[in-house]
Amino acid sequence: MRLYSTKNINSFVSLSEAIMKGLPDDNGLFMPEHLPKLSDDFIYSLEDYSFKDIAFEVCKTLFQGAIPENDLKTIIENSITFPAPIKTLDEQTHILELFHGPSLAFKDFGARFMAQIMSYFNQGDQKELVILVATSGDTGGAVASGFYKTEGIKVVILYPKGKVSMLQEKQLTTLGHNISALEIEGTFDDCQALVKQAFLDNELNQQIRLSSANSINIARLIPQSFYYYEAFKQINDYENPVTFVVPSGNFGNITAGLIAKKMGLPISHFVAATNANDIVPHYLCSGNYNPKPSVATISNAMDVGNPSNFARMQDLYGFTWNNMSKEIYGYSINDEYTKEGIKEVFDKYNYVIDPHGAVGYLAFKHYQKNHPNAKGVILETAHPSKFLDVVEKVIGEKVDIPERLAILEKRKKEATLMNTEFEPFKKWLLNNY
Ligand SMILES: *Cc1c(COP(=O)(O)O)cnc(C)c1O
Repeated sequence: MRLYSTKNINSFVSLSEAIMKGLPDDNGLFMPEHLPKLSDDFIYSLEDYSFKDIAFEVCKTLFQGAIPENDLKTIIENSITFPAPIKTLDEQTHILELFHGPSLAFKDFGARFMAQIMSYFNQGDQKELVILVATSGDTGGAVASGFYKTEGIKVVILYPKGKVSMLQEKQLTTLGHNISALEIEGTFDDCQALVKQAFLDNELNQQIRLSSANSINIARLIPQSFYYYEAFKQINDYENPVTFVVPSGNFGNITAGLIAKKMGLPISHFVAATNANDIVPHYLCSGNYNPKPSVATISNAMDVGNPSNFARMQDLYGFTWNNMSKEIYGYSINDEYTKEGIKEVFDKYNYVIDPHGAVGYLAFKHYQKNHPNAKGVILETAHPSKFLDVVEKVIGEKVDIPERLAILEKRKKEATLMNTEFEPFKKWLLNNY
């Protein structure tokens, strides 16, 4: 298997190089040279495959021998460790619950798979790999638990002091072992600036093998395609194939679905559901792409003003607006309306949906106006207990907090406090690794 950069389709790297590097030097994004079709045998007998079997078949077809089958089996065995069940609201409206992992968001799928595959490619290197991550909250938790106790890899997480929720902070600071947390007296941008500077520092790079767990790493995208098949299997309707509704921010999740479609999954349409950050819905109806600074909303994991995976979406559609807008419908939903959606889903179906899922639910209702027979699968990207304040206020009831999140409250925080200067950060790295 080879991959190219979306900015230079004539220069190729191997799978291991794409994953260990994360980003091409030209600042494009890595894409597989081919997205081979899965066999009809497989597509039309999904029912006979477990979630792990599906993951294995997809990877085997895509990787084309880049990882031996036995090793691939182990990687999948260790990364697809929680289910993605469908909950049916009514005959046309289904919810795909992607929050059954350790950090209660779909990002657990990507983070766990990336950890396993990086550890695999890192074998045989004497020097440990040190991964630097800056987080504004959610990504850090998924990465911390995804890489926890992964052989040969250490993780340093930088987060802005006082700017993440208590439970988010506990997700970053209570694991120990190979996971360390730096509490930065600054903003998320300061954290990101420190990480960027570290990658540019010659002395650091001579002493330590540094890498990133960037959200645009192709290793995070690939496992996100598995649950589209898993959802299709559970709905099991080849006559009236489903439309997937994807609450989107950086558009990685929807790109994974587009890849599943290219590899042969018979998906009807995609609905790109956004909050007030409506750059892509605006592009889909007008053909004009105008990135702008993000605005804050109650579905804050989607507050993105210049979605990084848009380049991959364009690449998949040959940079042609006409092709993309035929397959993807975009809708933007404001906060007020999102709250009404949470309430409606609770009153009508007795189902507690989080603000991101509610954006999806409402976008699907828009889409249904012109597609009255559509069957929709809405990706529920986070557990509602991650957004307690908003959800409890709207539905007027307590939301259950899953045990795996609740127990964090009692765990002891361990973090090193640091200012935003580069020298102390560098010294800390050199002393510890
Ligand atoms: C990250 C995230 C999203 C956005 O996913 P993208 O792949 O960036 O489009 C949506 N919902 C939740 C809960 C998230 O954490």
